[in-house]
Amino acid sequence: MIRFSITTLGCKVNQYDGAALAGTLRCAGLLPADADNRADLVVINTCCVTTAAMRKSRQAIRKKLRNNTDATVLVTGCYSDYDTEAIDRTLTSLGIPKHRVHVAGHHSDLPKVIRKIVDNLQSNGPTVAQPTGSTHSPGSTRCDIKTRRSIAVKRKADGTRQIGGIRVFPDHQRAFVKVQDGCDAFCSYCIVPYTRPIVWSKTIDQVRTECMDLVNSGHREIVLAGVFLGAFGRDTTLRRRWDDRGSSLPALLNEIAGIEGLWRVRLSSLEPGDVSEELLEVYRGNEKAAPHFHLPLQSGSRRVLQRMRRQYTPREFRQTVDRIRSALDSAAITTDVIVGFPGESDEDFAETLRLARYARFAKIHTFPFSAIEGTAAWEYRRDVPTPPVVKDRIRQLGELESQMAMEFREQFVGSRMEALVESTRPAPGVRQAMTDRYITVRFNPPKNARLTGKVVALDIDGVWSGGLYCHSLPSVLQ
Ligand code: SF4
Repeated sequence: MIRFSITTLGCKVNQYDGAALAGTLRCAGLLPADADNRADLVVINTCCVTTAAMRKSRQAIRKKLRNNTDATVLVTGCYSDYDTEAIDRTLTSLGIPKHRVHVAGHHSDLPKVIRKIVDNLQSNGPTVAQPTGSTHSPGSTRCDIKTRRSIAVKRKADGTRQIGGIRVFPDHQRAFVKVQDGCDAFCSYCIVPYTRPIVWSKTIDQVRTECMDLVNSGHREIVLAGVFLGAFGRDTTLRRRWDDRGSSLPALLNEIAGIEGLWRVRLSSLEPGDVSEELLEVYRGNEKAAPHFHLPLQSGSRRVLQRMRRQYTPREFRQTVDRIRSALDSAAITTDVIVGFPGESDEDFAETLRLARYARFAKIHTFPFSAIEGTAAWEYRRDVPTPPVVKDRIRQLGELESQMAMEFREQFVGSRMEALVESTRPAPGVRQAMTDRYITVRFNPPKNARLTGKVVALDIDGVWSGGLYCHSLPSVLQ
Protein backbone atom coordinates (compact mmCIF):
# COMPACT_ATOMS: atom_id res chain seq x y z
CA MET A 1 0.00 0.00 0.00
CA ILE A 2 1.37 3.41 -0.95
CA ARG A 3 1.08 6.07 1.72
CA PHE A 4 1.39 9.84 1.57
CA SER A 5 1.73 12.71 4.03
CA ILE A 6 0.88 16.31 3.29
CA THR A 7 1.88 19.45 5.18
CA THR A 8 0.26 22.74 4.23
CA LEU A 9 1.36 26.20 5.31
CA GLY A 10 -0.23 29.59 4.76
CA CYS A 11 -3.64 31.07 4.00
CA LYS A 12 -7.11 29.55 3.62
CA VAL A 13 -6.67 29.32 -0.16
CA ASN A 14 -3.52 27.25 0.30
CA GLN A 15 -5.24 25.14 2.97
CA TYR A 16 -7.95 24.41 0.44
CA ASP A 17 -5.36 23.53 -2.22
CA GLY A 18 -3.75 21.12 0.25
CA ALA A 19 -7.11 19.44 0.99
CA ALA A 20 -7.83 19.16 -2.76
CA LEU A 21 -4.41 17.61 -3.35
CA ALA A 22 -4.96 15.09 -0.54
CA GLY A 23 -8.37 14.22 -2.06
CA THR A 24 -6.76 13.67 -5.47
CA LEU A 25 -4.14 11.32 -3.99
CA ARG A 26 -6.83 9.39 -2.11
CA CYS A 27 -8.88 9.04 -5.30
CA ALA A 28 -5.77 7.66 -7.01
CA GLY A 29 -5.64 4.90 -4.39
CA LEU A 30 -3.01 6.25 -2.00
CA LEU A 31 -3.62 6.18 1.74
CA PRO A 32 -2.73 8.90 4.25
CA ALA A 33 0.17 7.91 6.49
CA ASP A 34 -0.40 8.16 10.22
CA ALA A 35 2.20 8.51 12.95
CA ASP A 36 3.06 4.81 12.78
CA ASN A 37 3.55 4.65 8.99
CA ARG A 38 6.37 6.05 6.98
CA ALA A 39 5.13 8.03 3.97
CA ASP A 40 6.20 6.89 0.49
CA LEU A 41 5.21 10.30 -0.88
CA VAL A 42 5.87 13.43 1.18
CA VAL A 43 4.05 16.57 -0.01
CA ILE A 44 4.93 20.02 1.32
CA ASN A 45 2.49 22.73 0.22
CA THR A 46 4.49 25.89 0.89
CA CYS A 47 3.89 29.62 1.44
CA CYS A 48 6.02 32.71 0.81
CA VAL A 49 3.85 35.60 1.97
CA THR A 50 6.54 36.72 4.47
CA THR A 51 10.16 35.78 5.05
CA ALA A 52 8.95 33.94 8.18
CA ALA A 53 6.58 31.85 6.02
CA MET A 54 9.48 30.98 3.70
CA ARG A 55 11.61 29.91 6.66
CA LYS A 56 8.76 27.78 8.02
CA SER A 57 8.35 26.17 4.59
CA ARG A 58 12.03 25.16 4.55
CA GLN A 59 11.73 23.91 8.16
CA ALA A 60 8.69 21.80 7.20
CA ILE A 61 10.65 20.21 4.33
CA ARG A 62 13.52 19.36 6.69
CA LYS A 63 11.23 18.07 9.45
CA LYS A 64 9.21 15.78 7.19
CA LEU A 65 12.20 14.36 5.30
CA ARG A 66 15.00 14.24 7.85
CA ASN A 67 14.14 10.66 8.83
CA ASN A 68 12.52 9.66 5.58
CA THR A 69 15.07 10.23 2.83
CA ASP A 70 13.74 7.27 0.79
CA ALA A 71 10.46 9.03 0.08
CA THR A 72 9.37 10.61 -3.18
CA VAL A 73 8.94 14.36 -2.61
CA LEU A 74 6.53 16.90 -4.05
CA VAL A 75 7.13 20.52 -3.07
CA THR A 76 4.26 22.72 -4.24
CA GLY A 77 2.52 26.00 -3.26
CA CYS A 78 3.63 29.62 -3.61
CA TYR A 79 7.20 29.25 -2.31
CA SER A 80 7.90 26.62 -4.96
CA ASP A 81 7.09 29.27 -7.59
CA TYR A 82 9.10 31.95 -5.84
CA ASP A 83 12.42 30.37 -4.95
CA THR A 84 13.16 26.93 -6.40
CA GLU A 85 16.86 27.47 -5.68
CA ALA A 86 16.29 27.66 -1.92
CA ILE A 87 14.12 24.54 -2.06
CA ASP A 88 16.75 22.77 -4.12
CA ARG A 89 19.45 23.65 -1.56
CA THR A 90 17.27 22.43 1.31
CA LEU A 91 16.59 19.09 -0.38
CA THR A 92 20.23 18.65 -1.42
CA SER A 93 21.37 19.24 2.18
CA LEU A 94 19.11 16.33 3.21
CA GLY A 95 20.66 14.06 0.57
CA ILE A 96 17.40 13.46 -1.34
CA PRO A 97 18.32 12.24 -4.85
CA LYS A 98 17.06 14.55 -7.57
CA HIS A 99 15.17 11.85 -9.42
CA ARG A 100 12.78 11.55 -6.47
CA VAL A 101 12.13 15.30 -6.21
CA HIS A 102 9.27 17.19 -7.87
CA VAL A 103 8.93 20.95 -7.48
CA ALA A 104 5.65 22.04 -9.04
CA GLY A 105 3.88 25.28 -8.12
CA HIS A 106 1.04 27.27 -9.63
CA HIS A 107 2.92 27.66 -12.91
CA SER A 108 3.20 23.91 -13.39
CA ASP A 109 0.69 21.43 -14.70
CA LEU A 110 0.10 20.00 -11.24
CA PRO A 111 -2.49 17.35 -12.23
CA LYS A 112 -0.01 15.98 -14.78
CA VAL A 113 2.83 15.96 -12.25
CA ILE A 114 0.65 14.12 -9.73
CA ARG A 115 -0.38 11.54 -12.33
CA LYS A 116 3.29 10.90 -13.13
CA ILE A 117 4.25 10.55 -9.48
CA VAL A 118 1.37 8.19 -8.75
CA ASP A 119 2.02 6.10 -11.88
CA ASN A 120 5.65 5.77 -10.89
CA LEU A 121 4.90 4.80 -7.32
CA GLN A 122 2.23 2.32 -8.41
CA SER A 123 4.29 0.66 -11.11
CA ASN A 124 7.55 0.51 -9.15
CA GLY A 125 6.15 0.06 -5.67
CA PRO A 126 6.72 2.16 -2.58
CA THR A 127 10.17 3.66 -1.89
CA VAL A 128 11.72 2.72 -5.25
CA ALA A 129 10.28 5.47 -7.43
CA GLN A 130 12.14 5.98 -10.68
CA PRO A 131 13.03 9.27 -12.32
CA THR A 132 10.07 11.10 -13.84
CA GLY A 133 12.40 13.58 -15.42
CA SER A 134 10.75 16.83 -16.19
CA THR A 135 9.29 18.26 -13.02
CA HIS A 136 12.36 19.23 -11.07
CA SER A 137 13.79 22.52 -12.17
CA PRO A 138 17.12 23.19 -10.50
CA GLY A 139 18.58 26.55 -11.23
CA SER A 140 15.28 28.37 -11.71
CA THR A 141 15.54 31.99 -10.68
CA ARG A 142 13.32 34.03 -8.46
CA CYS A 143 10.22 35.61 -9.90
CA ASP A 144 10.96 35.76 -13.59
CA ILE A 145 7.49 37.20 -13.88
CA LYS A 146 7.29 37.43 -17.66
CA THR A 147 8.16 33.78 -18.26
CA ARG A 148 6.06 32.52 -15.42
CA ARG A 149 3.04 34.54 -16.42
CA SER A 150 3.17 33.24 -19.98
CA ILE A 151 3.38 29.65 -18.70
CA ALA A 152 0.39 30.29 -16.44
CA VAL A 153 -1.61 31.85 -19.28
CA LYS A 154 -0.98 28.77 -21.39
CA ARG A 155 -2.04 26.49 -18.55
CA LYS A 156 -5.22 28.53 -18.20
CA ALA A 157 -5.96 28.24 -21.91
CA ASP A 158 -5.33 24.47 -21.74
CA GLY A 159 -7.68 24.21 -18.79
CA THR A 160 -5.17 22.03 -16.98
CA ARG A 161 -4.26 24.25 -14.06
CA GLN A 162 -6.53 22.87 -11.37
CA ILE A 163 -6.89 19.72 -9.39
CA GLY A 164 -10.44 18.71 -8.50
CA GLY A 165 -12.80 20.09 -5.85
CA ILE A 166 -13.20 18.63 -2.38
CA ARG A 167 -15.93 16.55 -0.75
CA VAL A 168 -14.51 16.64 2.74
CA PHE A 169 -12.08 18.94 4.55
CA PRO A 170 -10.05 16.55 6.73
CA ASP A 171 -9.49 17.55 10.38
CA HIS A 172 -11.50 20.77 10.04
CA GLN A 173 -15.03 21.48 11.25
CA ARG A 174 -15.22 24.66 9.14
CA ALA A 175 -14.60 23.77 5.51
CA PHE A 176 -12.73 26.31 3.37
CA VAL A 177 -13.86 26.45 -0.25
CA LYS A 178 -11.72 28.29 -2.77
CA VAL A 179 -14.04 30.18 -5.11
CA GLN A 180 -11.51 32.60 -6.63
CA ASP A 181 -7.77 32.51 -7.22
CA GLY A 182 -5.08 34.90 -8.38
CA CYS A 183 -4.27 38.58 -8.08
CA ASP A 184 -2.86 41.16 -10.47
CA ALA A 185 -3.19 44.19 -8.19
CA PHE A 186 0.52 44.29 -7.24
CA CYS A 187 0.29 45.88 -3.81
CA SER A 188 3.87 47.02 -3.31
CA TYR A 189 4.66 44.63 -0.42
CA CYS A 190 2.94 41.53 -1.79
CA ILE A 191 4.49 38.62 -3.68
CA VAL A 192 1.20 36.87 -4.51
CA PRO A 193 0.73 38.44 -7.99
CA TYR A 194 4.03 36.78 -8.94
CA THR A 195 3.08 33.34 -7.67
CA ARG A 196 -0.66 33.31 -8.50
CA PRO A 197 -0.89 35.80 -11.39
CA ILE A 198 -3.93 34.44 -13.22
CA VAL A 199 -7.24 35.72 -11.88
CA TRP A 200 -10.09 33.26 -12.25
CA SER A 201 -13.21 32.07 -10.42
CA LYS A 202 -15.40 29.01 -10.20
CA THR A 203 -19.00 29.31 -11.36
CA ILE A 204 -21.77 29.64 -8.77
CA ASP A 205 -23.01 26.18 -9.79
CA GLN A 206 -19.58 24.63 -9.20
CA VAL A 207 -19.32 26.25 -5.77
CA ARG A 208 -22.84 25.18 -4.81
CA THR A 209 -22.17 21.54 -5.78
CA GLU A 210 -18.94 21.50 -3.81
CA CYS A 211 -20.57 23.09 -0.75
CA MET A 212 -23.50 20.65 -0.87
CA ASP A 213 -21.04 17.73 -0.91
CA LEU A 214 -19.25 19.20 2.11
CA VAL A 215 -22.50 19.72 4.03
CA ASN A 216 -23.52 16.14 3.19
CA SER A 217 -20.16 15.01 4.61
CA GLY A 218 -21.06 16.68 7.91
CA HIS A 219 -19.49 20.17 7.66
CA ARG A 220 -21.88 22.71 9.18
CA GLU A 221 -19.89 25.84 8.29
CA ILE A 222 -18.40 26.84 4.94
CA VAL A 223 -15.84 29.62 4.54
CA LEU A 224 -15.77 31.00 0.99
CA ALA A 225 -12.16 31.95 0.27
CA GLY A 226 -10.23 33.66 -2.48
CA VAL A 227 -6.94 35.43 -2.93
CA PHE A 228 -9.09 38.50 -3.75
CA LEU A 229 -12.60 37.37 -2.94
CA GLY A 230 -14.18 40.65 -4.05
CA ALA A 231 -13.05 39.87 -7.61
CA PHE A 232 -15.24 36.75 -7.71
CA GLY A 233 -16.47 36.39 -11.31
CA ARG A 234 -13.95 38.90 -12.74
CA ASP A 235 -10.69 38.38 -14.62
CA THR A 236 -8.69 41.13 -12.92
CA THR A 237 -8.40 42.38 -9.34
CA LEU A 238 -7.73 45.95 -10.50
CA ARG A 239 -10.89 47.85 -9.73
CA ARG A 240 -10.22 50.56 -12.32
CA ARG A 241 -10.50 47.84 -14.99
CA TRP A 242 -13.82 46.48 -13.76
CA ASP A 243 -16.81 47.03 -16.03
CA ASP A 244 -20.18 48.30 -14.78
CA ARG A 245 -21.49 44.81 -14.20
CA GLY A 246 -22.27 44.44 -10.51
CA SER A 247 -20.37 41.93 -8.38
CA SER A 248 -21.45 38.27 -8.46
CA LEU A 249 -20.53 37.87 -4.80
CA PRO A 250 -23.99 38.71 -3.36
CA ALA A 251 -25.58 36.08 -5.64
CA LEU A 252 -22.98 33.51 -4.58
CA LEU A 253 -23.48 34.22 -0.88
CA ASN A 254 -27.25 34.05 -1.27
CA GLU A 255 -27.03 30.74 -3.12
CA ILE A 256 -24.77 29.06 -0.56
CA ALA A 257 -26.79 30.41 2.37
CA GLY A 258 -29.75 28.53 0.91
CA ILE A 259 -28.16 25.08 1.30
CA GLU A 260 -30.15 22.82 3.56
CA GLY A 261 -28.23 21.48 6.57
CA LEU A 262 -25.67 24.31 6.50
CA TRP A 263 -25.38 26.33 9.73
CA ARG A 264 -23.30 29.33 8.56
CA VAL A 265 -21.43 30.58 5.49
CA ARG A 266 -18.62 33.07 6.07
CA LEU A 267 -16.67 35.26 3.62
CA SER A 268 -12.95 35.01 4.29
CA SER A 269 -11.74 38.52 3.45
CA LEU A 270 -12.99 41.62 1.63
CA GLU A 271 -11.81 45.11 0.73
CA PRO A 272 -13.98 48.13 1.59
CA GLY A 273 -15.11 48.49 -2.04
CA ASP A 274 -16.57 44.96 -1.97
CA VAL A 275 -19.07 45.65 0.83
CA SER A 276 -21.91 46.92 -1.35
CA GLU A 277 -25.50 47.62 -0.29
CA GLU A 278 -26.48 44.57 -2.34
CA LEU A 279 -24.11 42.37 -0.33
CA LEU A 280 -25.36 43.81 2.97
CA GLU A 281 -28.92 43.12 1.82
CA VAL A 282 -28.02 39.42 1.52
CA TYR A 283 -26.66 39.49 5.09
CA ARG A 284 -29.84 41.18 6.32
CA GLY A 285 -32.05 38.55 4.72
CA ASN A 286 -30.06 35.42 5.66
CA GLU A 287 -29.40 34.30 9.17
CA LYS A 288 -26.93 31.77 7.71
CA ALA A 289 -24.62 34.53 6.40
CA ALA A 290 -22.19 34.97 9.32
CA PRO A 291 -22.07 38.67 10.36
CA HIS A 292 -18.29 38.75 10.37
CA PHE A 293 -16.29 40.96 7.98
CA HIS A 294 -12.54 40.56 7.70
CA LEU A 295 -11.38 43.83 6.11
CA PRO A 296 -7.56 44.03 5.95
CA LEU A 297 -6.73 47.67 6.72
CA GLN A 298 -2.90 47.39 6.54
CA SER A 299 -2.52 51.08 7.49
CA GLY A 300 -4.74 53.97 8.56
CA SER A 301 -2.51 56.53 6.84
CA ARG A 302 -3.52 57.73 3.39
CA ARG A 303 0.13 58.30 2.49
CA VAL A 304 1.19 54.78 3.51
CA LEU A 305 -1.79 53.18 1.77
CA GLN A 306 -0.78 54.98 -1.42
CA ARG A 307 2.80 53.68 -1.06
CA MET A 308 1.39 50.22 -0.47
CA ARG A 309 -0.72 50.70 -3.66
CA ARG A 310 -3.89 49.64 -1.86
CA GLN A 311 -7.15 50.32 -3.68
CA TYR A 312 -8.93 52.31 -0.94
CA THR A 313 -8.40 55.33 1.26
CA PRO A 314 -8.87 55.63 5.06
CA ARG A 315 -12.03 57.63 4.33
CA GLU A 316 -13.50 54.82 2.23
CA PHE A 317 -12.58 52.34 4.94
CA ARG A 318 -14.48 54.43 7.54
CA GLN A 319 -17.50 54.69 5.24
CA THR A 320 -17.56 50.89 4.85
CA VAL A 321 -17.47 50.44 8.62
CA ASP A 322 -20.40 52.89 8.89
CA ARG A 323 -22.37 50.97 6.26
CA ILE A 324 -21.85 47.65 8.07
CA ARG A 325 -22.72 49.13 11.47
CA SER A 326 -25.95 50.70 10.23
CA ALA A 327 -27.03 47.58 8.29
CA LEU A 328 -26.30 44.85 10.85
CA ASP A 329 -26.59 44.38 14.56
CA SER A 330 -23.22 43.89 16.35
CA ALA A 331 -21.36 42.56 13.31
CA ALA A 332 -17.76 41.54 13.98
CA ILE A 333 -15.17 43.48 11.99
CA THR A 334 -11.65 42.05 12.08
CA THR A 335 -8.53 43.21 10.28
CA ASP A 336 -4.84 42.84 9.38
CA VAL A 337 -2.33 45.64 9.94
CA ILE A 338 1.25 45.86 8.70
CA VAL A 339 3.43 47.75 11.19
CA GLY A 340 6.69 49.41 10.17
CA PHE A 341 6.10 49.75 6.42
CA PRO A 342 9.04 51.68 4.90
CA GLY A 343 8.60 55.38 5.66
CA GLU A 344 5.84 54.87 8.29
CA SER A 345 6.16 57.93 10.57
CA ASP A 346 4.81 58.42 14.11
CA GLU A 347 1.92 60.40 12.64
CA ASP A 348 1.16 57.66 10.08
CA PHE A 349 1.01 55.12 12.87
CA ALA A 350 -1.14 57.44 15.01
CA GLU A 351 -3.62 57.50 12.11
CA THR A 352 -3.70 53.69 12.14
CA LEU A 353 -4.53 53.75 15.86
CA ARG A 354 -7.23 56.38 15.27
CA LEU A 355 -8.85 54.39 12.50
CA ALA A 356 -8.67 51.17 14.54
CA ARG A 357 -10.47 52.91 17.42
CA TYR A 358 -13.12 54.21 15.00
CA ALA A 359 -13.70 50.74 13.51
CA ARG A 360 -13.85 49.05 16.97
CA PHE A 361 -12.17 45.97 15.55
CA ALA A 362 -13.06 42.67 17.25
CA LYS A 363 -9.61 41.33 16.33
CA ILE A 364 -6.43 42.71 14.76
CA HIS A 365 -3.78 40.48 13.20
CA THR A 366 -0.62 42.55 13.40
CA PHE A 367 2.35 41.80 11.16
CA PRO A 368 5.72 43.54 11.11
CA PHE A 369 6.62 44.59 7.56
CA SER A 370 8.50 41.84 5.75
CA ALA A 371 10.65 42.89 2.77
CA ILE A 372 10.31 40.36 -0.06
CA GLU A 373 12.79 40.50 -2.90
CA GLY A 374 11.04 41.08 -6.21
CA THR A 375 8.26 43.29 -4.82
CA ALA A 376 8.24 47.08 -5.29
CA ALA A 377 8.61 47.67 -1.52
CA TRP A 378 11.89 45.71 -1.55
CA GLU A 379 13.44 48.78 -3.21
CA TYR A 380 12.70 51.03 -0.23
CA ARG A 381 13.30 48.47 2.52
CA ARG A 382 16.02 50.67 4.03
CA ASP A 383 13.33 53.22 5.02
CA VAL A 384 11.81 50.91 7.62
CA PRO A 385 11.54 52.32 11.16
CA THR A 386 14.10 50.96 13.64
CA PRO A 387 13.33 47.60 15.36
CA PRO A 388 12.59 49.25 18.78
CA VAL A 389 10.11 51.63 17.11
CA VAL A 390 8.38 48.74 15.31
CA LYS A 391 8.28 46.73 18.53
CA ASP A 392 6.72 49.62 20.43
CA ARG A 393 4.09 50.20 17.72
CA ILE A 394 3.18 46.50 17.75
CA ARG A 395 2.80 46.75 21.54
CA GLN A 396 0.53 49.79 21.28
CA LEU A 397 -1.66 48.14 18.69
CA GLY A 398 -1.79 44.94 20.76
CA GLU A 399 -2.98 46.85 23.83
CA LEU A 400 -5.65 48.63 21.85
CA GLU A 401 -6.75 45.35 20.29
CA SER A 402 -7.12 43.61 23.69
CA GLN A 403 -9.24 46.47 24.98
CA MET A 404 -11.50 46.64 21.88
CA ALA A 405 -11.86 42.84 21.65
CA MET A 406 -12.95 42.72 25.30
CA GLU A 407 -15.52 45.49 24.75
CA PHE A 408 -16.86 43.68 21.69
CA ARG A 409 -17.28 40.41 23.61
CA GLU A 410 -18.83 41.95 26.74
CA GLN A 411 -22.01 42.89 24.87
CA PHE A 412 -22.85 39.17 24.52
CA VAL A 413 -22.69 38.29 28.23
CA GLY A 414 -26.19 37.25 29.32
CA SER A 415 -27.25 36.20 25.82
CA ARG A 416 -27.66 32.78 24.22
CA MET A 417 -25.31 32.17 21.28
CA GLU A 418 -25.01 29.40 18.74
CA ALA A 419 -21.56 28.04 18.00
CA LEU A 420 -19.79 25.23 16.15
CA VAL A 421 -17.82 22.87 18.43
CA GLU A 422 -14.15 22.48 17.49
CA SER A 423 -12.00 19.42 18.00
CA THR A 424 -9.54 21.34 20.25
CA ARG A 425 -9.66 20.46 23.93
CA PRO A 426 -8.01 23.41 25.72
CA ALA A 427 -8.01 21.60 29.10
CA PRO A 428 -9.41 18.35 30.55
CA GLY A 429 -13.21 18.64 30.68
CA VAL A 430 -13.24 21.88 28.67
CA ARG A 431 -14.37 22.26 25.05
CA GLN A 432 -14.49 25.25 22.76
CA ALA A 433 -16.76 26.41 19.98
CA MET A 434 -16.73 29.24 17.44
CA THR A 435 -19.68 31.63 17.07
CA ASP A 436 -20.78 33.22 13.81
CA ARG A 437 -19.15 36.48 15.00
CA TYR A 438 -15.82 34.66 15.26
CA ILE A 439 -15.68 34.51 19.04
CA THR A 440 -14.34 31.44 20.83
CA VAL A 441 -16.57 30.19 23.67
CA ARG A 442 -15.26 27.77 26.28
CA PHE A 443 -17.70 25.48 28.05
CA ASN A 444 -17.91 22.27 30.09
CA PRO A 445 -19.50 19.47 28.06
CA PRO A 446 -21.65 16.70 29.52
CA LYS A 447 -19.60 13.58 30.27
CA ASN A 448 -18.90 11.38 27.23
CA ALA A 449 -20.75 13.75 24.89
CA ARG A 450 -19.55 13.58 21.28
CA LEU A 451 -19.76 17.20 20.29
CA THR A 452 -17.03 17.83 17.71
CA GLY A 453 -18.61 19.36 14.59
CA LYS A 454 -22.01 19.89 16.27
CA VAL A 455 -23.82 23.22 16.53
CA VAL A 456 -24.68 24.03 20.14
CA ALA A 457 -26.54 26.81 21.98
CA LEU A 458 -24.55 28.33 24.83
CA ASP A 459 -25.71 30.68 27.61
CA ILE A 460 -22.90 33.18 27.87
CA ASP A 461 -21.97 34.19 31.42
CA GLY A 462 -18.44 35.59 31.23
CA VAL A 463 -15.52 36.93 29.20
CA TRP A 464 -11.86 36.00 29.22
CA SER A 465 -8.90 37.36 27.30
CA GLY A 466 -9.44 34.90 24.42
CA GLY A 467 -13.23 34.84 24.18
CA LEU A 468 -16.38 34.01 26.18
CA TYR A 469 -17.42 31.47 28.84
CA CYS A 470 -20.52 29.40 29.31
CA HIS A 471 -20.72 27.55 32.64
CA SER A 472 -24.02 25.77 32.02
CA LEU A 473 -24.50 22.70 29.83
CA PRO A 474 -24.92 23.30 26.10
CA SER A 475 -27.98 22.34 24.06
CA VAL A 476 -27.17 20.47 20.88
CA LEU A 477 -28.99 22.00 17.87
CA GLN A 478 -27.52 20.27 14.79
S1 SF4 B 1 -4.76 42.63 -3.26
FE1 SF4 B 1 -2.68 43.24 -2.78
S2 SF4 B 1 -2.24 42.19 -0.82
FE2 SF4 B 1 -3.98 41.15 -1.73
S3 SF4 B 1 -3.10 39.43 -2.90
FE3 SF4 B 1 -3.38 41.16 -4.32
S4 SF4 B 1 -1.42 42.21 -4.32
FE4 SF4 B 1 -1.45 40.88 -2.50
